[in-house]
Amino acid sequence: MEKKKGLNTRSVHDGELIDDLYEGAVSPIYLSTAYNYSEGDDDKYPRYFNTPNQLALSNKIASLENCEKGLVFGSGIAAIFASMFSFLKSGDHVVFQSSLYGGTINMVVKEFKKFNIEYSLVESLEINDYQKEIKSNTKIIYVETPSNPLLQVIDLKEVSVLAKKHKLLSIIDNTFASPINQNPSDFGIDIVVHSATKYLGGHSDILAGAIASSKTIIDKIVSSSINYGGNLSEHTVWLLERSMKTLCIRVNAQSENALRIANFLEKNKNVSIVNYPGLQSHPQYDLSKKQMRGFGGMLSFALKDEKKVNQFTRFLKIIKPAGSLGGVESTITSPALTSHAKISKEQREKFGISEGLLRFSVGIEDYQDLEDDLTQAFNKI
Ligand SMILES: *Cc1c(COP(=O)(O)O)cnc(C)c1O
Repeated sequence: MEKKKGLNTRSVHDGELIDDLYEGAVSPIYLSTAYNYSEGDDDKYPRYFNTPNQLALSNKIASLENCEKGLVFGSGIAAIFASMFSFLKSGDHVVFQSSLYGGTINMVVKEFKKFNIEYSLVESLEINDYQKEIKSNTKIIYVETPSNPLLQVIDLKEVSVLAKKHKLLSIIDNTFASPINQNPSDFGIDIVVHSATKYLGGHSDILAGAIASSKTIIDKIVSSSINYGGNLSEHTVWLLERSMKTLCIRVNAQSENALRIANFLEKNKNVSIVNYPGLQSHPQYDLSKKQMRGFGGMLSFALKDEKKVNQFTRFLKIIKPAGSLGGVESTITSPALTSHAKISKEQREKFGISEGLLRFSVGIEDYQDLEDDLTQAFNKI
């Protein structure tokens, strides 16, 4: 077998289409929705997830996730939906970690009961608490690590061992870590999903999703997904492939900046807590070191004076108050006012989401400029 190349080389080159006709350096884009139906070939059609650009991008994602096959969708939620519904039927049960992306929780709460699919939400990170929820009709265990917005970390090896013992599919949302910092399939997780809107796209201008898994599982997901729709347009597929060439270099820069910012914030007298898996004060620091290569570009911190949250974010000049994450630009958001605004204050407090909490998606700007921006805003509150 050929020696596996480094993450930067794979980000740039893996999956790329070779331009045999004109020998250009980048993948050509094929926009056809109609292909010759030659005998023996799979019929090519964008909704079948099998056009040249979709396959090229899927191969890049599979390579970066150390998986046999990849698949690209029109959104992260489309990918998450397909990863579960391709396997579930009425009467089944799913065990979820409760600290999930808000949109995922919303899908579960709103859609599952319509299809008579049961679920359990587990608040703890202890594997025994997940084991306790497994029933005879359980089919899937679904986790997200590090989680949004508290950066909680769950043990991927324990999750995969539990899933195998009970013949369940294990699924992880790997959006926050990105394939650069964490490869869940190395720990035996069956299906890796991404909101490619975040780090894979990386420039806050693409909405997309991705799945990486074994050939058998991806083929099964494709056979259902051609009925759900949800493929990504060829233009955006091409742009995402282009964007992912810098994935490794971007995420490494973001992870480096985030670690320094986390250390800076931890010493700041205006801040009561900093959540970042790369800090020794993080409850799962040792586990994070074991299962992550880097700790990622996401962190959250709480202001001691909760009422100053809006003022503080308004005073920032470089760091933008904005909802999404994973872009080259630094963005900051108040979960209590945005992603978790729809649930009650009591429930938020129960989840550990205080009014003073800010989620920070650290960009690739020069570190000192980010520290200076935070300092001048702290000085004004
Ligand atoms: C944004 C996000 C999603 C949803 O992805 P969309 O691209 O918005 O559909 C899922 N999981 C996580 C962790 C996210 O941050």
